[in-house]
Amino acid sequence: MPCLVCGSENLKETYSSLLRCSSCGFVWADLDLNQEEISKVYDDSYFFSGEYSNYVKERRALEKNFKRNIKVISRYMPSGQLLEVGSAYGFFLNLAKKQYNAQGVEINQNACKYARERLGLDVICGDFLSTNFKANYYDLVVMWATLEHLKNPHLYIEKISSLLKKNGIFACSTIDINSILARIQKDKWRQIHPPSHLSYFSQSSLIMLLAKYGLKKIHLFRLGEYRSVDNILYTILTLNNKFHRLYSLIRKLHLNRGAVYLNTYDTIYMVASKS
Ligand SMILES: [Zn+2]
Repeated sequence: MPCLVCGSENLKETYSSLLRCSSCGFVWADLDLNQEEISKVYDDSYFFSGEYSNYVKERRALEKNFKRNIKVISRYMPSGQLLEVGSAYGFFLNLAKKQYNAQGVEINQNACKYARERLGLDVICGDFLSTNFKANYYDLVVMWATLEHLKNPHLYIEKISSLLKKNGIFACSTIDINSILARIQKDKWRQIHPPSHLSYFSQSSLIMLLAKYGLKKIHLFRLGEYRSVDNILYTILTLNNKFHRLYSLIRKLHLNRGAVYLNTYDTIYMVASKS
């Protein structure tokens, strides 16, 4: 299969069985997953004991990140019709609705239900690609920490572009395979974990993919994120290493009240506009 960003067939196998395009630098896990297997990655274990120890308990730290994201996107689109692709438990939408007509789409049924019933949000439960949305209708589409999870990110970008009005804004965040940390740590980088992470962009491969579908980069940020102490310990002890028992012991100390700001310069925030 050629590179989905630039079409090159000049590919090299790199660590952790990932493929790297020698031409544009896009990296991906060449796994043949069917829809059922993909849905399984995003069942409840993803939010509780998968990538997060407990996503709902992480709410305060997540909201700090989302408030900051809203500040950034407001500079380019202060109001209007907003769609969030992969809206999880709705914590971003819940803040964004103060300013936008905010709508979301989420594949995990319980997360979607929580957003609809507990937070009263306008969220569609289902797969973004197989759901119908109004074309040329949205002023703003956002997708936080989602691109890396997609097997076919180009199909998402193509559809997102078709949903945006002319001069509409697309904002996203994703991990950066070309960051210094990723280059030093290689397969030990905390973000290398297929099948949950399948697509690994760099600044340039992301700009290239967006441009292919008429989305022109207007701003790129290197922002860190607020994370609870509990989540940091969870990542260090459980995801990368296997110190589950130590984590369980420390967890009893209830450290997850505070949030710590960390910038490891390996996440890209991109704002692009539809030309
Ligand atoms: Zn390529």
